[in-house]
Amino acid sequence: MNLSKFPRRGYLQGSTPIEAMPAFSKALGGKVNLYIKRDDLLPGCAGGNKTRKLDFCIADALEKGADTIITCGAVQSNHCRLTLSWAVKEGMDCHLILEERVKGSYKEEASGNNFLFQMMGVKSVAVAAGGSDMMGEMEKLAEKLKAEGKNPYIIPGGASNTIGATGYVACAQELQQQLFEMKLNIDHMVVPSGSAGTHAGMVVGMVGTNSGIPVSGINVSRTKDVQEALVHKLATETAAHVGVKEAIPAEAITCFDGYVGPGYSLPTESMVEAVKLLASTESILLDPVYSGKAMAGLVDLVRKGHFEEGSNVLFLHTGGSPALYAYLDTFR
Ligand SMILES: *Cc1c(COP(=O)(O)O)cnc(C)c1O
Repeated sequence: MNLSKFPRRGYLQGSTPIEAMPAFSKALGGKVNLYIKRDDLLPGCAGGNKTRKLDFCIADALEKGADTIITCGAVQSNHCRLTLSWAVKEGMDCHLILEERVKGSYKEEASGNNFLFQMMGVKSVAVAAGGSDMMGEMEKLAEKLKAEGKNPYIIPGGASNTIGATGYVACAQELQQQLFEMKLNIDHMVVPSGSAGTHAGMVVGMVGTNSGIPVSGINVSRTKDVQEALVHKLATETAAHVGVKEAIPAEAITCFDGYVGPGYSLPTESMVEAVKLLASTESILLDPVYSGKAMAGLVDLVRKGHFEEGSNVLFLHTGGSPALYAYLDTFR
């Protein structure tokens, strides 16, 4: 894979840290050694995984002469926060369309990411009902802005297309080099699986380098079958985009759907426990919607003996902690 050939803005500042979590591992019985890749520390307002994807997506937008970015997400979307953040840095306008997946959940005065949308000077926020055709809504807005003389570029939800997922192919390469330098042999990797770009890109990077490191995704919204098909489709397309010749085997995609709870963004007891446990053992903040539920999955898999005793397991921290401040009552 030669990822250097793709346009990229250079938003990363070196590699994000890989840290051991001895206290957290001990709290979970000490039979598995847990590590964490700190993509929550990526640059961009308040950090998180979308920066890796936007590094490629916004480069593509600028190549196409765009002066305006349109994207969409849930009402507390980290992706919207980071897209706006990078658009601001590039001097571009940014418009957001928020999908109210939980009825009545959008509040203009809400804290968390919503507060940051206003702080960074979003051009417009529109709210669409849950289940809306978000691409259709964004296309309508793009037509309107074109009529006003703007040149808008649409980034899909989560920046999960082949261009965005390439950011996580690069992450797989980055972390393998780091592990080599650290003399650390990882047996298994666990990632949150949402709009699928992170999971798909990571699998393409691991398969495309013959790393032999299995990647498990923890779902935050969909059922196992639906999510695995979504990840596999995007992984296959991304592999073609980055020039991986071999097919991505369906067996390379594994998702766990037991930690979603009542639905996307709705709190679960195991999420609350995981967020509190990581904060009180390692001083690392997760979020209620993605990394908290994914960590609840990892905690449960460790307790159930899913990983062999003595194995090294790496968790990808995708960020999202600003959303914690929109869920204060859940944690008190
Ligand atoms: C978007 C997001 C994810 C999920 O990544 P996908 O590429 O959408 O699957 C995980 N964690 C956080 C904090 C996110 O914002």
